Amino acid sequence: MQTEELGNQYDVIIVGNGVAGCFGALHLPADKKILMITKGELEESDSHLAQGGICVLKTEDDYDSFFEDTLKAGHYENRKESVDIMIHSSREVINELIDYGVEFAREDGELLYTREAAHSTNRILYHDDVTGKEITTKLLAQVKKLDNVTMLTNTTMVDIICNGNCCDGIILRDANGVFHSVYAHDVLWACGGIGGVYDNSTNFPHLTGDALALSLRHDIELEHINYVQIHPTTLYSTKKGRRFLISESVRGEGAILLDKNGERFVNELLPRDLLTNEIKKQMKKDGMPYVRLSMSTIKDCDIKTRFPNIYKHCLEEGIDVTKEPIPVVPSQHYFMGGVHVNQVSKTTMEHLYAAGETSCNGVHGANRLASNSLLESLVFAKRAVLDMVENWQEREIDTEREFDMSPYENYKRYEAENIKMVWDAIEEANKENKK
Ligand SMILES: Cc1cc2nc3c(=O)[nH]c(=O)nc-3n(C[C@H](O)[C@H](O)[C@H](O)COP(=O)(O)OP(=O)(O)OC[C@H]3O[C@@H](n4cnc5c(N)ncnc54)[C@H](O)[C@@H]3O)c2cc1C
Repeated sequence: MQTEELGNQYDVIIVGNGVAGCFGALHLPADKKILMITKGELEESDSHLAQGGICVLKTEDDYDSFFEDTLKAGHYENRKESVDIMIHSSREVINELIDYGVEFAREDGELLYTREAAHSTNRILYHDDVTGKEITTKLLAQVKKLDNVTMLTNTTMVDIICNGNCCDGIILRDANGVFHSVYAHDVLWACGGIGGVYDNSTNFPHLTGDALALSLRHDIELEHINYVQIHPTTLYSTKKGRRFLISESVRGEGAILLDKNGERFVNELLPRDLLTNEIKKQMKKDGMPYVRLSMSTIKDCDIKTRFPNIYKHCLEEGIDVTKEPIPVVPSQHYFMGGVHVNQVSKTTMEHLYAAGETSCNGVHGANRLASNSLLESLVFAKRAVLDMVENWQEREIDTEREFDMSPYENYKRYEAENIKMVWDAIEEANKENKK
């Protein structure tokens, strides 16, 4: 869709078109006029990159164990009510995904469940090793069918329009670099994580925590912003750019970590933060910039068919994972903290919601359990828009306001300032935590 089609007033603006943004759009009624924007191309969201899978409450018997695994991984700093909501909503959300055409691995028609680190049982649905792509592509296809949604790519939210502590819309920069003020009854931030702030990250580099910077600028509450997850196993490379993830499910299926002498040195199924520490210690001890991950110990599945994407990518980098170990290194991966929201994803500013990785509803505590984030994003994006609709009251918005766009016009500088604000806030929170 072209920028020429941009209006200046919508019912809802959704910033981001990953799983949180798409699922939000799909749960808004057809009579609501929606603007959905993304900073990059349609496929450039972290949701597309998710490899491992998505958790689900397999049977009611698994509730206590799923709950405990999530809390244990989160160092018991999770908001228990949010964890409960996520687990109890999981089956319904998965059924909706299947209705939208998402295909999960099955045998004889029955869903297959895999396992990743720190899960005490198999409860993860997957689609090869490209689960996120499968889910996001199918959701995007459904959103594209909606006549009430205008979707703009290469379009960036640079600010929000505030009336006291009430959000009336956003300022956006369109694909041609032109700034526009656009008003809405409600705004949903579904802007993803903060990997772009780091040198080494598995995230898309344009995900620079913009909602956090705007929260800092407009006094919107943040939570646990130093809770940043480092993924223990990403493909080691001397090249610049996004780090390729070697999914946890590889270790879940039996791969082992080796030191420089080819000796196993750790329990590979430790929670991510603990495993990262062990790998860093080993790298230091070995005087090496990586350790190695061997898939030769995987016995119950065929590597090429179970992990086709990892196999192909590593081969392109000159590594045949069926024959030799993969050099791996920890990299920034996920953001547990974020814009503070309540259980219906409301921020501390009126008419402003946040869902997905950009928000913090407390599900993940201090450390995310693998494969909980796609689920959490879907569950809480849906809750956000259902709350908007439930509390909808027509309101007058002054759409004739004059704006000084000059702060954004040196866009590179404005963007750099935002990134620095986010980085400094994380560092500050880290220092506070260490006191
Ligand atoms: C390599 C990798 C593997 C992963 N594997 C798994 C897994 O197996 N299971 C699991 O549960 N989770 C996994 N995750 C995490 C999971 O993918 C993400 O947490 C989740 O997809 C976040 O979805 P989201 O909708 O919140 O954000 P995203 O999907 O990242 O989407 C963010 C959107 O916001 C847009 N945006 C950002 N800022 C702006 C702005 N200022 N203006 C306009 N648009 C903006 C972006 O362009 C993008 O469209 C993985 C993550 C990575 C990186």
